[in-house]
Amino acid sequence: MTDVDETGLVAFAQELVRIPSVHDPDRGLNEQPAADLVATQMRAFGWEPVIDVVAPGRPNVVAVLEGGGGDGPTLMFEGHTDVVTEGDGWTVDPFGGEVRNGRLWGRGAADMKGGLAAMLFATHALASRGPFPGRVVLAALVDEEGMMLGAKDLVARGRTEGVDGVICCEPEGGEICHVAKGALRLRLDLQGKMAHGAMPFEGRNPNRGVGAAIGVLAELERDLQARHDTHPHLGQVWITPTVLAAGSARQMNVMPASASVWVDVRTIPGVDHDDLVGEVSALVASAASDHGITADVTVIDDRPAVATAPEDPLVRAVWDAHAAVAGPPTLGGVPGATDGTVITSRAGIPSVVYGPGGKWIAHQADEFVELDDLLMHARVYVEAADRFLRRAS
Ligand SMILES: [Zn+2]
Repeated sequence: MTDVDETGLVAFAQELVRIPSVHDPDRGLNEQPAADLVATQMRAFGWEPVIDVVAPGRPNVVAVLEGGGGDGPTLMFEGHTDVVTEGDGWTVDPFGGEVRNGRLWGRGAADMKGGLAAMLFATHALASRGPFPGRVVLAALVDEEGMMLGAKDLVARGRTEGVDGVICCEPEGGEICHVAKGALRLRLDLQGKMAHGAMPFEGRNPNRGVGAAIGVLAELERDLQARHDTHPHLGQVWITPTVLAAGSARQMNVMPASASVWVDVRTIPGVDHDDLVGEVSALVASAASDHGITADVTVIDDRPAVATAPEDPLVRAVWDAHAAVAGPPTLGGVPGATDGTVITSRAGIPSVVYGPGGKWIAHQADEFVELDDLLMHARVYVEAADRFLRRAS
C-alpha cells in the first residue's frame, strides 16, 4: 500500500554512510559530498533541489515538492547531512556502510543518514501514489552536530515560511518526541589582578572567583530543580560547569589576572532562558565580588526547550500513522536540542522528532540502524504526510 522502495532506501542509506561527512577542516572533511549525493537522489526522483551555501563546503539542500492536488498544508521533513567524528573502539568499518544481521552499520547509520534516506524515499512513495494537497518540503541541513548553522540559515533565508509542521527524522527509537530539552552554553569571565605567588596580597585571584561561581551555580541548580517539577519526558534542569581555563602549568608561581568557566545548562519547558542568564549573572557577580573579582557572562548559544502540543495536527498525524503501521505509539522527549529546536523557537513552527535508530546509539562506536526499523519509519512518514496534508483545515 505504501510502495516504499526498500532496496533503493537501504542502498541509498549505505551510500550516505560511506561518506565521512564529519565537519573537520583539519582532515579536509565537510558535508559537501553527502549534500551532493542527496541532491543527486532528489533530481533522480524528478525534484529540483536548491543549494544554499551556509559556509564553504557546507551546503543546505532543500527541495519543494508540490502535491498537485490543490491547496493544502505544507509539511517539512528535516534531516542533517553531518555526522560526529567516528572516534575509536569500532569493530566494523565506521564508513563501510556494511549490512549484516539485518542492520546497517556505521557512523551516521542512526544519526541520521537512515532517517535522511527514509524521508526522501517516503516522499517519493507518497508522490508515486498520485496527487496530494499542499506540498512537502525536504530539508537536508549542515552542522546539526555543531552550532546548527544549517537550521539557522534555513530560517534566516525564509525557507520555513508557510511551513505548517516539521518532522525531524532524528533517531528516537520509535518515540514520537513532541518536546525537546533546552540548552544554554555560557562562558563566565572572571577578572582579577595578576601577582607573584610569593606576594598574593598584591593581586586579586580570579580562581577564588571560579570556586565561588561554581558553588553558587550548584545552589542555583538545586533551586531550579525545586522550583520546576521534573518533566515526564525531559527530567530536570542541570547546570554543569564543563571547562575551566586560568593560569599556566609552566608558571605555577604566577597568580593569573583572569579565568574563565564554560557552563552547559540544560533546561525544560517553563524555564525562561533570559531570566536564567540574568540570575546566573547576578549570583556569579555577587559571589565573585566577595573576592574582589568582577564577572561577565557571555551567552555562546541559546537553544530554548520546545514543546508541541500532543493535540497539534502534526503530532496527531505521526501518532495515527505510527498506530496504523507499527502498533501502539508512545510520546517522548528529546534529551538534547535538534534542528527542530531552532525551527520551532525561531520560526514558530510546530516540530516533532521521530526517526529510525535507537535513541541512545547516536555518537557511540558500532552505531547501527535496524533495516526493519528504517523501513517501518519510512512507511510511517508516508502515512503521516498523507494524514497531515489531507486533513480538513
Ligand atoms: Zn542527529
